[in-house]
Amino acid sequence: METLLRPKYRKFSDLLIHPPQVVKNLFGSITWKVNTDKKIIYLTFDDGPIPIITERILDILNIFNAKATFFCVGENVKKYPSIYKEILSEGHVTGNHTYSHLQGLKTSTKDYLYNIKKAAEYIESDLFRPPHGRMRNSQQNEIIKNYNIVLWDVLSLDYNKNISEQNCLENVKHFTRPGSVIVFHDNIKAKNNMFYALTQTLLLYSEAGYKFETLNSEIIKKVVKPEKRVPVFSSFFF
Ligand SMILES: [Zn+2]
Repeated sequence: METLLRPKYRKFSDLLIHPPQVVKNLFGSITWKVNTDKKIIYLTFDDGPIPIITERILDILNIFNAKATFFCVGENVKKYPSIYKEILSEGHVTGNHTYSHLQGLKTSTKDYLYNIKKAAEYIESDLFRPPHGRMRNSQQNEIIKNYNIVLWDVLSLDYNKNISEQNCLENVKHFTRPGSVIVFHDNIKAKNNMFYALTQTLLLYSEAGYKFETLNSEIIKKVVKPEKRVPVFSSFFF
């Protein structure tokens, strides 16, 4: 597997799929990827747990002995506690993705923080990913007191109905490198693209000697983050 250390941007949406370093530098406290030369990839799944879909993801991961991080929605965990338990019992890690998948930019900071707190009644984790990858500065500043915020190095765009399964896989293949945090979606909208791209990703990168591991605060602590951030830009990108 060819590893692109300086991947080329192919089209405008690549800026969302693989945020450029200059943008990452503006968000001082956020984790985008893990700094490593080792062949390790961090698969992440947002929005579950969802019956059948999450269970199938777990089966596929199991075949490849792959571990992953699931950013769960609190109300889904409340509805499907046994699937949530299965995620954990299989050695995966979970993170908080709010209770009701709130959009930070459309929500007051007070309500947003309350929603995260409500999700925390069901999800024990110090990892957080904001729905839609967006939040206000005021929200970010509070969240980092209790959580490691994780965005991504590679967004598969699996939820986009206008891209094919193959395009979705190409998005992953084009930008993935050692330490990449890859986003898939554990939801109905994304399932066709996700299952195809996930399976192919596991096949291709396993053959190339990669391992798939969970994110956790120990690994994240080792991630060197830019010191400076420029608050005015912190929500312009997504
Ligand atoms: Zn989400």
